[in-house]
Amino acid sequence: MSLKPSLLDFTLKELQSIVKPSFRAKQIYGWLYHHYAENYEAMKNIPKALKEELEEKYLVSPLHIIKKEISSDGTIKYLLELQDGKTIEAVWLKMKETQYDEAGQITQEAKYTICVSTQVGCKVGCSFCLTAKGGFTRDLSAGEIVGQVVALKRDNEHKHNRMLNIVYMGMGEPLDNLDNLAKAIEIFQEDDGLCISGKRQTVSTSGLSSKIDKLGEMDLGVHIAISLHAVDDELRTELIPMNKAHNIQSIIDAVKRFPIDTRKRVMFEYLVIKNKNDDIASAKKLVKLLSGIKAKVNLIYFNPYPGSDYDRPTREDMIAFQEYLVKHGLLCTIRDSKGIDISAACGQLKEQESKQKEI
Ligand code: SAH
Ligand code: SF4
Repeated sequence: MSLKPSLLDFTLKELQSIVKPSFRAKQIYGWLYHHYAENYEAMKNIPKALKEELEEKYLVSPLHIIKKEISSDGTIKYLLELQDGKTIEAVWLKMKETQYDEAGQITQEAKYTICVSTQVGCKVGCSFCLTAKGGFTRDLSAGEIVGQVVALKRDNEHKHNRMLNIVYMGMGEPLDNLDNLAKAIEIFQEDDGLCISGKRQTVSTSGLSSKIDKLGEMDLGVHIAISLHAVDDELRTELIPMNKAHNIQSIIDAVKRFPIDTRKRVMFEYLVIKNKNDDIASAKKLVKLLSGIKAKVNLIYFNPYPGSDYDRPTREDMIAFQEYLVKHGLLCTIRDSKGIDISAACGQLKEQESKQKEI
């Protein structure tokens, strides 16, 4: 099936080369990103003839919500359907609660982060990851990446000028779809669109070192998070097979070359798996490996799923690991299991859905 492009695939400049006069393109941009229009009908001040012309070639939105799971902590996990019937996940995460003063007035609004997918499936094939089990289907277009944020903001009635952060940590390997990722990052930054700066966007990668360099050269101002997960190449190759081609040292070297805002740190994600990498010897190696890098480590509990080969570490081991890192000068957090009562890790909601279909 050939996919129809959508209006969300374009930067404002590109839309202005398609839609004349250019103020009309700006108006359409407003409908897309300030009013979250889902169809041409909603665009009240756009001439009918222009809408008909555009409708022949472009969708307004390339995806829609088909399922959502709401967790008691405010996390909402979405299953979205694309025009070819494929499904992806995106997650709405509440990072900070709304703050009130004594009179009940809001002093600070709640803060949110959206976790988006970049591919249907993934080629990297990590042994611990449910997304990997389904193999790779296809890359998402820039519009399909942008569309996830638009759909979630619309669904949560989150005004266009309220800020949020984006993490590319859903399904897929973002750097394996670098061109569309870069385009989406640029579209998010549009002043007449959502105005989400690079600083508010974090690309999580399993470590394609050559692509880390390429992303750095694009100078988009984004942060990177490295899914490190292991401190020696043997274990890392077991967990992430492409570590053979992009080993730990090549990733560390690429990180050192990456243009990083001097006030910020590079995030290293470390998935803690029981009896695999949860020992103090690993923590010791991690400290050594990250010396000389302005790093922050985020420890993640392995989240088991039916048929998974690994187990969740104990809380004691997790805390001992964290304490060792902190004692040796590393900034380290334990990722709180947001949405633990829904399908928490990447790929799990989709998996449930396809199981239900099989029944
Ligand atoms: N492909 C990119 C981004 C998507 S994966 C990457 O690997 O960084 C997003 C995150 O989900 C990764 O940090 C990965 O380690 C984590 N993840 C995958 N399976 C998991 C599981 N079963 N339990 C906990 N985290 C998991
Ligand atoms: Fe792909 Fe990331 Fe899952 Fe690995 S952890 S298979 S890179 S989505």
